[in-house]
Amino acid sequence: MNNKVRVLWLSSIACNGNTHSFLNYPYMEQFLNDFEFIYHPIIDSKYSLKEIVSDDIACDILLIEGSISSEFKRADVSVVEIIKKYSNIVKKIVTVGTCATFGGIFRDSDYKDSTGLHFDKDKRVNEFEKLIEKTISVSGCPVHPETLVNTMYAIKKSVDLQLDNFLRPKEFYAYTVHNGCTRNEYFEYKVDNHKFGELEGCMFYDHGCQAPFTHASCNKTLWNEVNSKTRAGMPCVGCTEPTFPKGNLFGTKKNMGIPQDLPIGVGKRTYLTLAGITKAFSIDRLEKKLFDD
Ligand code: SF4
Ligand code: SF4
Repeated sequence: MNNKVRVLWLSSIACNGNTHSFLNYPYMEQFLNDFEFIYHPIIDSKYSLKEIVSDDIACDILLIEGSISSEFKRADVSVVEIIKKYSNIVKKIVTVGTCATFGGIFRDSDYKDSTGLHFDKDKRVNEFEKLIEKTISVSGCPVHPETLVNTMYAIKKSVDLQLDNFLRPKEFYAYTVHNGCTRNEYFEYKVDNHKFGELEGCMFYDHGCQAPFTHASCNKTLWNEVNSKTRAGMPCVGCTEPTFPKGNLFGTKKNMGIPQDLPIGVGKRTYLTLAGITKAFSIDRLEKKLFDD
């Protein structure tokens, strides 16, 4: 008997980035023993898109990738109609990535009404209000493959995931990306990074790192089980948040020398006090290269 969970991956206005990220999941063989795609835009699947839109095919989870517009169609059928039809069939809906969750990059596409399923940036969208109880959001540009797969296993095992205000599982989004970064000591003593890709220094003060106010597990569950942006020397660009994408991703906006966006919960006054204290330290070790050239 086939006990696999049946999944429909519906691609709306998307670049397929989430699909590519998902294909990097390290235990795909195991995953495909437990789940089967009734349709996926890239992976071989049982039904064609034409069959998906014309018939009502049994399915357990609807995954939506890409932002949603009333004008956008797949196989000549509006994605809004496809979502409404399958939302009546499935047990759970997962918005995969920041476009499907908040509108993301394709909010600025030619489809002027593009939004996420339940949010237009941080504002609620009413079109799919009835589906909110069924929805879990896993934001990211792209989504972290382990966040997506672990969410799907939680659904399979009927785990009651606690969600935040944007329907994201707290298990993966309660942390900030700053949590677990190898550069935390440089952050504490205000030692900035001077060159992208270098191992030393923190990128918050001059190079635009948004990790202290971005919710995701990138430094807790490493990408490809190896690394993260900030560990590798690239600032976090805040891709899991409703505000993504912001302009000027590689520089820190400041007012009177103070970063415009501060770590969550830190007020300007507290920041200035802490900055004053850390200025008193000059730690030679943190100014040097970690490895000899
Ligand atoms: S580089 Fe970013 S994530 Fe790493 S310590 Fe600095 S602010 Fe935090
Ligand atoms: S480090 Fe930041 S920008 Fe990079 S994937 Fe994680 S949340 Fe997105």
